[in-house]
Amino acid sequence: KKEDIIKLEDYLWEIPKSFRNDMLVPARILASETLLNDIIEDRSLNQLVNVAVLPGIQKASMVMPDVHEGYGFPIGGVAATLYPDGAISPGGIGYDINCGVRLLISHLQYETIKGNIESLSKEMYAQIPSGMGKGGKIVLSAKDMTDVLTEGAEWAVKKGYGRKEDLEYMESHGRLSFADSDLVSDFAKKRGTDQLGTIGSGNHFIEVDYVEDIYDKDIANVFNLKKDQVVILIHTGSRGLGHQVATDYIRIMMKEMIKYNFKLPDRELACMPFSSEEGQHYFKAMCAAANYAWCNREIISWEARTAWKNCFGKDAGELKLLYDVAHNIAKIEDHIIDHVKQKVIVHRKGATRAFGPDSEELPEAYIKSGQPVIIPGSMGTCSYVLSGTSKSKDLTFGSCCHGAGRRLSRRSVKQQVNAPALKEQLKEQGIYIEAGSFKGIAEEAQQAYKDVNLVVDIIQTSGIAKKVAKLRPVAVVKG
Ligand code: 5GP
Ligand code: MN
Ligand code: MN
Repeated sequence: KKEDIIKLEDYLWEIPKSFRNDMLVPARILASETLLNDIIEDRSLNQLVNVAVLPGIQKASMVMPDVHEGYGFPIGGVAATLYPDGAISPGGIGYDINCGVRLLISHLQYETIKGNIESLSKEMYAQIPSGMGKGGKIVLSAKDMTDVLTEGAEWAVKKGYGRKEDLEYMESHGRLSFADSDLVSDFAKKRGTDQLGTIGSGNHFIEVDYVEDIYDKDIANVFNLKKDQVVILIHTGSRGLGHQVATDYIRIMMKEMIKYNFKLPDRELACMPFSSEEGQHYFKAMCAAANYAWCNREIISWEARTAWKNCFGKDAGELKLLYDVAHNIAKIEDHIIDHVKQKVIVHRKGATRAFGPDSEELPEAYIKSGQPVIIPGSMGTCSYVLSGTSKSKDLTFGSCCHGAGRRLSRRSVKQQVNAPALKEQLKEQGIYIEAGSFKGIAEEAQQAYKDVNLVVDIIQTSGIAKKVAKLRPVAVVKG
């Protein structure tokens, strides 16, 4: 209830530890009052408080302004537990392991391609398989599967489905070295055999946008973003493989958790000490699934580049990768807690890493600006590019929101929206939608999501990331 929430800053709210006697840390909400009034409506704050009980949790259980309820943990949440014995929980990472976004940058201006948008979206739809359970052209042998799970995006480059230059511009360079393919079940591998290069269904998409507005000229220069420039936004994850890894290990943890005597308020928080055998197995399998997702986004980019060339021929130029970020993942990172540097297991579920200037691992080009943070909004509104700041490390374990965040359930938005009419209406606004089904379009209507402008404004006010550019969609391929 609202009475239980204390306002710390205009953008920051807290449910104190005293609220429930099982809480190990306070619960914090990054939001404006307007957004908070919405957030109170679903179970996400209940879930936020439950996460404050996670063994080994540090500082606070946190949610970003795009928060909404998820499996056990809220989506839009960040939870860091102490390395090495704190908990790792699959529910704090999500079923779509390493779901994430990347942005490709073209040389062309919107004006130049305006007349070709419809054919471009048709070509994208033709090149990039989409839809639930849909397979692609690449079928992996057992050896290939091991290599993909071990090497991540590098595998795509090695096989001629990617660009070597891209690897530098991906979180963790598109490869987590802790991955162990032997810990991914045969069934999970089977589900992943032919899904590389596919976007899947629902919220996943590939979108053509143009830069509508620039907020920070200097950083936009560093990011090579200019007004009216055409860019391509890609959102997908580890497909059936990652989903199966999550399912497998949630089952194992629910069964074996009893050994550790954790008292959890919700079974869906199923977790293990990171250092335990099962904890390590899950972590290594999760890293393998994350590698699959990076490989997937690299291959999708290759397909998008093919579509782009088919459409624009000699004038096409290169599509360069600005950055690729994960928003469903756990990472081992160093953070300062009570003035002491500590290793923690940072769970980001529907949250994007937002490291500031001079952080470890950033490509040379972004050392001064901070990392690009890519925030999709919805197919009918707009999306944002931000850059991480050093304040994110103080406030949110180096994290930021991951989108606008769902506001209405799929079912309720379907009842409200007439999909064919929506498609027509968007076309009149200059946005072409290609989708496998009208059902998919209805569930993803802009009403389904919060106002991305409000969400991003709170991020800007809080100082955990800086607005750099606003993107306007012109063609969207939906699963
Ligand atoms: P999630 O990873 O939680 O499924 O989605 C991330 C975010 O993507 C959502 O919160 C929503 O704001 C955004 N989103 C969903 N569909 C679209 C789309 O078609 N285009 C854009 N630009 N953003 C979308
Ligand atoms: Mn996903
Ligand atoms: Mn996602």
